[in-house]
Amino acid sequence: MSRGLHLIAGGWEQGTGVPFTSFSPHTGEPSEREYREADTEQMRRATRAAASRMSLRGFATPTERSRVLSAIADALDSEAETVVATADRETGLGPERLSGELARTTGQIRAFAEFLQRGEHADRIEDSIFEGVSLVRVNIPLGPVAVFEASNFPLAFATMGGDTVSALAAGCPVVVKAHPSHPETSETVAQIASEVLRVTNLNGVMSVLHGPSPELGESLVMSSEIAAVGFTGSLRGGRALMDAAARRPTPIPVYAEMGSVNPLIVTEAAAAARAEDIAVGFTGSLLLAGGQFCTKPGLLVVPDSAAGDRLVARVSEEVAAAGDHVLLNERIKNQFVSACENIRQTGTPLAESRASVGGYRVGGLLVEIEPPVDDLEEIFGPAGLVVRYSTLDDLLALISSLSGALAAAVHAVDDDPDGPAIVSAVSERVGRVVWNGYTTGVGVSPAMMHGGPYPASSDGRHTSVGLRAMSRFQRPVAFQGVPNSLMPDAN
Ligand code: NAP
Repeated sequence: MSRGLHLIAGGWEQGTGVPFTSFSPHTGEPSEREYREADTEQMRRATRAAASRMSLRGFATPTERSRVLSAIADALDSEAETVVATADRETGLGPERLSGELARTTGQIRAFAEFLQRGEHADRIEDSIFEGVSLVRVNIPLGPVAVFEASNFPLAFATMGGDTVSALAAGCPVVVKAHPSHPETSETVAQIASEVLRVTNLNGVMSVLHGPSPELGESLVMSSEIAAVGFTGSLRGGRALMDAAARRPTPIPVYAEMGSVNPLIVTEAAAAARAEDIAVGFTGSLLLAGGQFCTKPGLLVVPDSAAGDRLVARVSEEVAAAGDHVLLNERIKNQFVSACENIRQTGTPLAESRASVGGYRVGGLLVEIEPPVDDLEEIFGPAGLVVRYSTLDDLLALISSLSGALAAAVHAVDDDPDGPAIVSAVSERVGRVVWNGYTTGVGVSPAMMHGGPYPASSDGRHTSVGLRAMSRFQRPVAFQGVPNSLMPDAN
């Protein structure tokens, strides 16, 4: 389905910039489909088209937006085979995982469509503190949103992923910067979505630009028409875009969901009761999709005791036995290899597995480190760290020194004496606390929180997953004494 084209203001065009292709993670072979980076003029046309669709109520009424979103979800489901096959070719994540990811993506789109239909998004507040004068507070859309895709979720955090859908639901047109690791997947999804937009006369509401250089993304963020940014990716990329947005004459919000070191903390009582189970569960979560989950439990925090030793020994066996892992692209592989070399120097390797030859394959690694742990950075890939604590006070000090994270898991027993203090300490460092479970696997639901204190995300007050993600792209306005006929309809 892909043709090496950008979607710009409702039309399909070739780029004029640097050529690039995606590569098979299994073989490292380039795809035959060549793309050329979008140029500045193309990007400007995309942002201008997006801005031209804006009005006080957004690019369409909530009911129209709801219908369009439902139709896009149906269209994506009806092309599931093509979408999944394309994504598998470019990411190597496998048809099973990608079919699940597509179902999650279309489920999320429909959830927003239903939310709009029920009118719950409006958050309309009316009162009359001034006698005889109405005061109505309504959310209005911010304006065109620049969306940056992540490589490890080519569907759920990509062209029609959470950022795009929450922006469209809010009434904001989007300009998507596709990830250069999976351009054909992005183009395929864009074709399906844009056909729905075309028949509903909404051309220009979504553009999708391709390119491998940071300059394209930065100049998109600097474009005067862009009113907000939704980013999912590395701390390096998110921080660069936050800084670019802050340099604008009119700064704009950047909602960046980035990587973090998510701790899994085991109490002495839990280690004594079920060391083996926790070890197997932890390793499964650590190595899921080659350790390429933003919610990967990258740090195992265990008691310095015989039970803690049993747990760590079993994790070591599991990591060594797991074989090799295929990473998404060459850059991620190179960064992983160099991060592993660094951590080997500072810690004590406990276990590793060998990588076979070909593609972006790497072995798994487990390293024990000593406190302090305040400067740990995410190692994206199949590597985990272990740190031990002696007393509850040591553990609490260790938790409070951790950088902000998306999530933490706490493994304890019923009425665990250490439970209350640990839950209280981790709540200050993360956006989601998981009790006797694992942090990978983020359900799309109203109560979900997917964000956390910096550097996990740029603004820990917001989530990028679930219906509340929409509020990032809205702004409340109070209308005082304004006649009903002049009010925006519920947005
Ligand atoms: P990435 O390399 O940061 O790429 C994300 C996007 O940002 C790409 O479009 C990339 O384009 C662009 N970008 C990166 N650096 C840039 C810069 N300096 N200026 C302008 N644009 C820039 O991340 P990734 O490799 O896709 O994903 C892996 C990371 O994402 C991991 O750290 C993972 O934990 C995190 N992640 C977080 C979440 C979450 O919800 N918190 C979810 C999924 C993934 P170019 O490649 O063209 O530069």
